[in-house]
Amino acid sequence: MDPIVFENIRKTYDGKVALEQINLSILRDQTTAVIGPSGSGKSTLLQLINGLVVPDRGKVYVYGDEIDYDNLAKLRRRIGYAVQGTGLFPHMTVKKNITLLASLEDWDKEAINRRMRDLMDLVDLPSSYTDRYPHELSGGEQQRVGLCRAMILNPKIFLLDEAFGALDALTRSEIHQEFLKLQKMEARTIVLVTHDLREAIKLADQIVILNEGNIEQVGSRTDIMENPETEFVERFVHMQLEEEPVEFQK
Ligand code: ADP
Ligand code: MG
Repeated sequence: MDPIVFENIRKTYDGKVALEQINLSILRDQTTAVIGPSGSGKSTLLQLINGLVVPDRGKVYVYGDEIDYDNLAKLRRRIGYAVQGTGLFPHMTVKKNITLLASLEDWDKEAINRRMRDLMDLVDLPSSYTDRYPHELSGGEQQRVGLCRAMILNPKIFLLDEAFGALDALTRSEIHQEFLKLQKMEARTIVLVTHDLREAIKLADQIVILNEGNIEQVGSRTDIMENPETEFVERFVHMQLEEEPVEFQK
């Protein structure tokens, strides 16, 4: 069973179409990148998965169950969600930021600390950082804390919305490595939104290309690059990749 299935989804905002006729299955324990120009509906698609967006028409299934919009808390416990700018609470320490959700779930202290240490290890954050505040960390370090926070409950589904977007190229490349390492250690179903095809190619097994609320193509990186199904995809790929050759890292 595919962990996330979109069936005939349509979503409008104030009568304006954001997504139209979306049929899509997300593969289990794989990374799917959703890519497209600004305003193409990427964030809307992502937020349909954790119920932040309710479709006008169609259904979203998570692990086979249609989303129950009257009981989203249960759904969101199984879904990690990280957005651009990390969304860290500035007045809370690193430790507090990372462990907040687990505390709310009444995990015992020992389990919380163990999970926090494991995650910080995984993303190469020194344990001495736990008492620092977000402003005492670099952008890349803050982003890593954001990843730890989103992973604390060990969600089987992990959503990232342009989570690496604000970082400089070098930091971004480092975070990509951590991301790939994490995915290797604890495989999970990841959907990441990006406007950067290079990022999608580097991190994702499946790529979904959106344009004006429609899916243009779904495929592997090779499919997308070598067999573009529409003129839009061909132009989009060409435009994004023409500057320098792509580095394959997987
Ligand atoms: P992307 O993430 O690809 O930039 P979005 O999913 O955020 O695209 O937006 C798709 C379209 O829906 C855009 O035209 C955007 O302006 C519109 N939109 C998104 N969210 C809202 C909202 N809360 N209210 C009104 N319009 C919105
Ligand atoms: Mg967006």
